Amino acid sequence: MLLFRDVCAAFDVIESKSGRLEMTDLLAELFKKCTPKEAAYLCYLIQGIIAPPYEGIDLGMGERFALAAIASATGYPSFEVEKHFKKSGDLGDTATEFSKKKKQLSLLSNDLSLEYVFETFQKISKASGSGSQELKIKLLVELLNNSDPLEARYIIRFVNGSLRLGVGDPTILDAISVSHAGNKSMREQLERAYNVCSDLGLIAKSFFTSPSSIASFHVSPFKPLMPALAERLNTPKEIIEKLGECIVENKYDGFRMQCHKSGDRVEMYSRKLERMTPMLPEVVEAIRNLPQKEIIFEGEALAYDVSKKRYLPFQQTMHRRRKHGIEAASKDYPLRVFVFDILYLDGKDMTDAPYADRRKTIEKLFLKGKLLMPSEAKKLKTATALEAVFDASLSAGLEGIIAKDLAAPYAAGKRKFAWIKLKKSYGKSVDTIDGVIVGYYLGLGQRAEFEFGGVLVCVYNPQSGKLETVAKVASGFSESEMKQMQELLSRIKTPKPPANLDCKIAVDFWVEPKYVVEVAFDELTQSPNHTCNSKGGKGLALRFPRVVKLREDKGLSEITTSDEVVSMFELQRGK
Ligand code: ATP
Repeated sequence: MLLFRDVCAAFDVIESKSGRLEMTDLLAELFKKCTPKEAAYLCYLIQGIIAPPYEGIDLGMGERFALAAIASATGYPSFEVEKHFKKSGDLGDTATEFSKKKKQLSLLSNDLSLEYVFETFQKISKASGSGSQELKIKLLVELLNNSDPLEARYIIRFVNGSLRLGVGDPTILDAISVSHAGNKSMREQLERAYNVCSDLGLIAKSFFTSPSSIASFHVSPFKPLMPALAERLNTPKEIIEKLGECIVENKYDGFRMQCHKSGDRVEMYSRKLERMTPMLPEVVEAIRNLPQKEIIFEGEALAYDVSKKRYLPFQQTMHRRRKHGIEAASKDYPLRVFVFDILYLDGKDMTDAPYADRRKTIEKLFLKGKLLMPSEAKKLKTATALEAVFDASLSAGLEGIIAKDLAAPYAAGKRKFAWIKLKKSYGKSVDTIDGVIVGYYLGLGQRAEFEFGGVLVCVYNPQSGKLETVAKVASGFSESEMKQMQELLSRIKTPKPPANLDCKIAVDFWVEPKYVVEVAFDELTQSPNHTCNSKGGKGLALRFPRVVKLREDKGLSEITTSDEVVSMFELQRGK
């Protein structure tokens, strides 16, 4: 039985050590002591979730309830707890402090096991209806009554959604492999399995039950796959040199949806793999009416503006739906889903089939002009023909094209040259990255009234597990956007920087690494101040960065990687 105390002791060390190898070893030691069920709980705990993200389950407890529970468990009035929290800025630290000076000792102080703690979290998440808030607090108070000061810190941080260990999924996968094989040799198999089901708890449970089971993990409905991603090149010529004959499709600027159907049940997942079924009832209906019994496919959804006869980009589509209500929006701005891949069909995993075959299936199953229709695609083999499709896509107001390797399987969770995107800006002076905000600045002069002057943006280095800074961005915000950013960011301020941040720059406020922004820039330069791919020396930085938009459809795990910035730098230098 794994004691919660041991888990917390490891977390405490992990927080102070930021080396990925040390983290991996510490976690591997914990996994060694786990039963399969405990291994699943440990994965979710580190990820800061109760269940895989696509199940959309949370604890339903805000800061206020956590404060009330700390007060009740330690015997101090709420206002004192609140006062301490205002100073510390970290609810976990406040819980530790009050737990140290507890006024009331509980009668039955038991050793907490990981299983007991996690199952109590599950009970808290399930409590609903009248009296559920009291029940949630009661369950949390019971946990706090039995916890020591360190345990109280992690219980409260978990409940508050701010665990901030800085441990990414790749480190957890490494640790599982190391715990069993003594090295990372099983990491690739584990990662493949994770990419086809996106449920780390399930992977850990299956692996520790039978390590060989992981090799035969397959795609199944309602377990969303990690999305395949596109590489980029600068010119049609480079794309043809790389792929030869290929299929070239329009790149639609809508929102990506992974659609699953089995019998009457239909679910749709966003690019972040969050369940978005209730948001798009007309699409659900169209999927339910498909004649296939079981199917998983991917498409890009866009709203069509009936009066203006044009497609609306992602942000506007979502805005219309919020503003007009779903029903009215479905009439005036009907959705179209451009299907661009198929991953599973009536019991058959299609991810290993070459794209040429998957494309044929798409064209057989989906019809032009319907709500669900195939993406516009053309098979071609010359740079001139590719350029013509690219120009046509731009004239139609689209973002560009994606060229697809005819022979490639579906690369779940991977950015590969199976898909190559060519956008309007490539080869010219402007490009974009998607980075996460880790801190922000107070405004000066005119901006002082907004208490917002810009953000510090990071990309992710999967080799080291670190967030690396790439730009301080102060341009591109309208007045209302400055207000919005200040509101969003001030709610997630933290007293310390994220544990896995590699940074040489100061900010006015650190924030939880949560919001992803698309940042345009003129070129990449080498800078002593930024840490992107710096390896201890000069890093890469964006020149003239400006915010394009918040990428609400992207999460921390979907941001641009340092390697991608390096390849953009090489593209820029004409390598
Ligand atoms: P970007 O920021 O350029 O939109 P991204 O980081 O969201 O890119 P990429 O993997 O680089 O994602 O580019 C592929 C994205 O393009 C997909 O996530 C999908 O949402 C979108 N897309 C639009 N049309 C297509 C298409 N025909 N085939 C594949 N993806 C498409």
